[in-house]
Amino acid sequence: MPRTYPIERIRDIGIIAHIDAGKTTMTERVLFYTGISHKIGDIDEGTTVMDWMVQERERGITITSAATTCFWKVKGGAEHRINLIDTPGHIDFTAEVQRSLRVLDGAVVVFDGVAGVEPQSETVWRQADKFKVPRMCFINKLDRMGASFEKSLESIQQKLTPNAVAVQIPIGLEDEFKGVIDLLLMKAFSFEGESGELVKEQEVPENFVGEARKWRTQLIEKIASEDEQLLEQFLAGQEMAVEELRKVLRQAVLDYRLVPVFCGSALKNKGVQLMLDGVVYYLPSPIDLPPVKGTDPKTGREIERKASDSEPFSALAFKVATDPYVGTLTYFRVYSGTLIKGSYVLNSSSGERERIGRILRMHAAEREEVSDLFTGDIAATVGLKNTTTGHTLCDEVQPIVLEKIIFPEPVISIRIEPKTKADQEKMGLALKKLAEEDPTFRVKGDMDTGETIISGMGELHLEIIADRLKREFKVEASVGRPQVAYKETIKETAEAEGKYIKQSGGRGQYGHVWLKVEPKERGQGFEFINEIKGGTIPQEFIPAVGKGVKEAMDKGVVAGYQLVDMAVTLYDGSYHEVDSSEVAFKIAGSMALQTACKKAKAILLEPIMKLEVVVPADFLGDTIGDLSARRGRIEETSDRLNTKVIDAKVPLSAMFGYATALRSLTEGRGTFTMEFEDYEEVPQNIAQEIIEGKRK
Ligand code: GDP
Repeated sequence: MPRTYPIERIRDIGIIAHIDAGKTTMTERVLFYTGISHKIGDIDEGTTVMDWMVQERERGITITSAATTCFWKVKGGAEHRINLIDTPGHIDFTAEVQRSLRVLDGAVVVFDGVAGVEPQSETVWRQADKFKVPRMCFINKLDRMGASFEKSLESIQQKLTPNAVAVQIPIGLEDEFKGVIDLLLMKAFSFEGESGELVKEQEVPENFVGEARKWRTQLIEKIASEDEQLLEQFLAGQEMAVEELRKVLRQAVLDYRLVPVFCGSALKNKGVQLMLDGVVYYLPSPIDLPPVKGTDPKTGREIERKASDSEPFSALAFKVATDPYVGTLTYFRVYSGTLIKGSYVLNSSSGERERIGRILRMHAAEREEVSDLFTGDIAATVGLKNTTTGHTLCDEVQPIVLEKIIFPEPVISIRIEPKTKADQEKMGLALKKLAEEDPTFRVKGDMDTGETIISGMGELHLEIIADRLKREFKVEASVGRPQVAYKETIKETAEAEGKYIKQSGGRGQYGHVWLKVEPKERGQGFEFINEIKGGTIPQEFIPAVGKGVKEAMDKGVVAGYQLVDMAVTLYDGSYHEVDSSEVAFKIAGSMALQTACKKAKAILLEPIMKLEVVVPADFLGDTIGDLSARRGRIEETSDRLNTKVIDAKVPLSAMFGYATALRSLTEGRGTFTMEFEDYEEVPQNIAQEIIEGKRK
């Protein structure tokens, strides 16, 4: 079937925000308003809509899917399809934020109109910069006591980008917040009806005209500076057509040169519809962005795919969700080409073929089964076996591997134990599913004790996992104390020999290698280099040496933690015609690695967190004192509204239970956010304690 929905009328976007800024409320309002204006099935012929509400209700929770499709029409314009990609609010889930940023084309960043830019908004903003996501802002909660549009805008301009520019201003604030003035149209809007569904356009109230004019001039000047002809008109004092201004502003948003700022109150149903207009006006469609890059798995060369149906099919899986009713749902975004239900595609990341059985498009209350997909579409498929988050699905004949999503390594782990024998098996399966969904969550068995260890990005991350185990999978389990995921590395270069030779009686063993180990920069990982020349060791045994090295690195030489960030070169050795085997070389490799690392000044590394604490000024001294006692390094203290903000670097090991500590230190008024920064060397005295603790 040919495409029914023009690609330029698609918007793949996300709403991103600091926790509590109002993302959930906003999303609900969006789905409500778009639901009123569009009944699914109206447009796409040949699709069936299934009502899944019953099951949703049975579950008792509303599940926001990883991507929800809705439709929006600007007054007097054509309808647009908006695919809303879910982004998590909590910093523990940076990986989730990253993967959603990867597949969306544009974003609406929501701010709390009282707090302005909060630490997490800053983190997420920087990530959006990294992924080059064009965006607009929405200053929410203007109905709240203490809300200030101007201050919030200023904090955006100061902390995030000087390119932020108001396209609206509020009419009144707090209790008096009545609506917004559109600065391009110079019209006032109010939102009436029970749920603000009736958008009324009026003249700008008399007492706001002066202020609105002032703001409008600023806006027009910024837009005009983006376009020569407009600038001439502006300087000549001529009126400019609103459509023309919008067009230039749109291009400036796509080029990351301007960020339009909207405002309102999601809770009080004000401003959401105009924000949706903004999504249509200013955020990109799939064809507005540069072609997606990847590599040809056959040649290793970099290749591109344009956002076009006539290109070979390519898509990125960005979320795997376990649904108790349909099984595994794999959400993916189509970057190029088309996909027909029932066809086979290649998972170029794993090398496996996958059959696309059913294709589902998720709406707020329904799931729609569709028979084909086109470039720019976002949908889910059921029952893929070998596809996880970050994998590329593509045309079998013209394969491409799209740029990978890189996830940070987990920094914290806890032991988890099923309460009963019956829970044991259920827990194993449930953990496996959760790990498939979440690339920053890992499950491992402890060889020595037979216990299960789970690792993730923070205390809260693992708490939520434990909670999901109980609620979704009905597994009763008890968890231990959180442990820091220490690592080990080396500081110097060293060489060592590994010999595994047994030649008395029966079949002998002969493995003999010389290895050199060298430190690499933090985060550079592990590299195995083979420099064996002239068959000193036969080619067939070399991978075995690599394997032995890798195994030995899993249990380091200082305190048994994983060795990281080093290069290992195999440069010499010998073999025996009869007695040499893969096993012997593997063991020799392990032995040589251990000896070399002991000579190379092995050290312990610990995760260091970037911390931001916000406290009332009275508590500043105590909070800093406490942080110093936790080996924290204070980087900066600054003022934010009536509070003090402390930026610090702290070792994760000193931060367990910090939420409780900060609460009691500040009479419950302090807040903090924490995020993994990097691994650093553990100070000598503390390393000693860790080593001894391990040895006991
Ligand atoms: P999220 O954590 O970003 O998803 O935020 P929520 O949508 O859950 O909102 C957090 C809290 O702020 C909730 O208690 C909401 O009712 C409230 N909230 C959201 N939007 C507004 C708003 O526009 N005005 C006010 N006063 N409260 C709001």
